[in-house]
Amino acid sequence: MLPFKVVYHPRYDLNLGPHVFPSQKFRLIQEFLIREKIAGAEDFIEPAPAPEEDLLRVHTRQWIDKLKNGTLTASEMMKLEVPYSPELAEAVWLAAGGSILAGRLALRDGFASNLSGGFHHAYASHGEGFCAINDVAVAIRSLQAARLIKKAIVVDTDVHDGNGTAHIFRDDPSVFTLSIHQENNYPAHKPPSDLDLPLDDGVEDEEYLSALLPAVASVLDRFCPDLLFYVGGADPYLEDQLGGLRLSKSGLKARDKGVFFAARSRDIPVATTLAGGYARRVEDTVRIHVNTLVAAREVAGELPAARNAASQ
Ligand SMILES: [Zn+2]
Repeated sequence: MLPFKVVYHPRYDLNLGPHVFPSQKFRLIQEFLIREKIAGAEDFIEPAPAPEEDLLRVHTRQWIDKLKNGTLTASEMMKLEVPYSPELAEAVWLAAGGSILAGRLALRDGFASNLSGGFHHAYASHGEGFCAINDVAVAIRSLQAARLIKKAIVVDTDVHDGNGTAHIFRDDPSVFTLSIHQENNYPAHKPPSDLDLPLDDGVEDEEYLSALLPAVASVLDRFCPDLLFYVGGADPYLEDQLGGLRLSKSGLKARDKGVFFAARSRDIPVATTLAGGYARRVEDTVRIHVNTLVAAREVAGELPAARNAASQ
């Protein structure tokens, strides 16, 4: 039913119980896509956990072993801000495997979506802010090692700055990092991305889109990446509990569609990941993430020639 694959695993759930991070959202999004007939069973594909050699292209051996064995220190646990469990470790291994798979499928089909990932606060040697493994960084390095891509861009639209991703790629000219975020919000320390678009509190649809979309178009023309990874946070939403921007649902969909159109009209494949979303009503977070896939379907429909060209 969809012109691209959706990467999903039932064990994406981070096993957090009652927590501001709604870790049931992964399952709710998958169920919504099926129930509303946006996707059929044949559209989904299950990832394998990311291979250790790919994780080690980004993360230190010590951090990966701590996650594997559950030997995080108390201060590492506090920085991570989620309780450690073997289920959490399994979920982030799968999320990273999912982003690798989504990257590969995007190169084949022009577009692919991982219904997890976007854990952009994870650094090479520690986790932060609900993010243990930087799945997008792992996927980019994995695809580069397999010689499937040379250059990638990360367009990070989560309301929070993409600090881990910016730091991991700070000296890597083959990866362009772009982060549009609320300046006055977590994380306190924001290492520079290649392009930061910091926004004031309370910014609404029009101002947001006019900051983001021309910047994306101009960077794509200049940098000419082989793949775009989209970190599509639902948390710039006006009713988000951890965000202070005021985007509407339709503004967020216009954000997604604008970025996808900019990439696909230049024949650049797009792989999407979810990132954050803490709306008071979890249904809103689910709907915003679902709209990212609907936006992708609409762009694919408007640009069939570009999609076919990319899949040859
Ligand atoms: Zn966020």
